[in-house]
Amino acid sequence: MTFTPDERYRRHLQLAAIGEAGQARLRGACALVVGAGGLGCAALPLLVAAGLRQVIICDGDRIEPSNLPRQVLYGDDDVGRAKADVAAERLAPLNRDCAVTPVAMPLTAGNADALVGRAAVVIDATDDFNARYLLHDACRRHQRPLVTAAVHHDEGQLAVLRFDRASSGPCWRCLWPAPPAAAACDGGCRDQGILGTVPALLGVWQADQALRVLVDDAPLDSGTLVHVDVRTMETWRTTWDVSPTCPLCGTGEAAPGATAAPGGGDEEARWEDLHAPEAFLWIDARTDADQAADPRPAALGALFTCTWRQFGAAGPPPGRHCMVFCGHGVRSLELVRHWRGAGCLHVTSLKGGLAAQRNRRT
Ligand SMILES: [Zn+2]
Repeated sequence: MTFTPDERYRRHLQLAAIGEAGQARLRGACALVVGAGGLGCAALPLLVAAGLRQVIICDGDRIEPSNLPRQVLYGDDDVGRAKADVAAERLAPLNRDCAVTPVAMPLTAGNADALVGRAAVVIDATDDFNARYLLHDACRRHQRPLVTAAVHHDEGQLAVLRFDRASSGPCWRCLWPAPPAAAACDGGCRDQGILGTVPALLGVWQADQALRVLVDDAPLDSGTLVHVDVRTMETWRTTWDVSPTCPLCGTGEAAPGATAAPGGGDEEARWEDLHAPEAFLWIDARTDADQAADPRPAALGALFTCTWRQFGAAGPPPGRHCMVFCGHGVRSLELVRHWRGAGCLHVTSLKGGLAAQRNRRT
């Protein structure tokens, strides 16, 4: 059966934010989805159904039995086949208006530019740090908007990088200059347990943001990371800015307070001696139980924080200076001494920890 655009896309056309003009934009657009795993399987059907001209699926993996509970484009008989090929077979019948193009090979330095160059919007649905950075850098080179997401246990993160805009804002490397060392992923990122609904929810969010980018309906700005705890349905945001020491955006000048350790490289610093707290990367050194009980310490407000578990024994990658905190400044000092002993000198412990900061504010 065939339908007129008016019949098929009526519910889009009725929206003021889309209408005829927005649907025409979708009709002319190509989306590149890198990764046809848990995130990609959720994002892809909605992109194909929305009426895009083309959706390109890039994934070099083959389907494994353990993929099936969350990668719902695949069934029992697909195990062993290429994800990109099977996904394209399942998706093509959803909407004849949309060309679904499988690229059954991993994203590499050799194909990233050609693939990104074809797309009006790019979705990072990969679970591989090196592919993520490769894709990010290609999007920045080609000025393509990038919708990126990641999941870990019950928590998801999503950001949109508007490289298509004249003032594109900060890039991912302003936050994390380089991918973490392989050893930094505790137990191996790819082997963590995960409930199938968690990447699916984030994948749907990615499709939503990609469509909003295409029709210009208030997608997220660059420099905002949305976090969601799927178990509690709680969401919160953190923001980051262009870093003067970013390998892509940087001016080569040191940010005040950001690259030189306060007090000439001390292993500890007091909050009141920090001239620009937002210039640091804040690393939470508390125990897992304490972090779970109070994931966003109010004392730190909207400062961007991450957990010590993201880094291996060698410490965080070079770039921005890191301020390590815990409840009372004991665990954090221990961790800072450990990292400094390993040659990682751009880390400082917050003296007195959250307790001191909390007291200062009240
Ligand atoms: Zn940057």
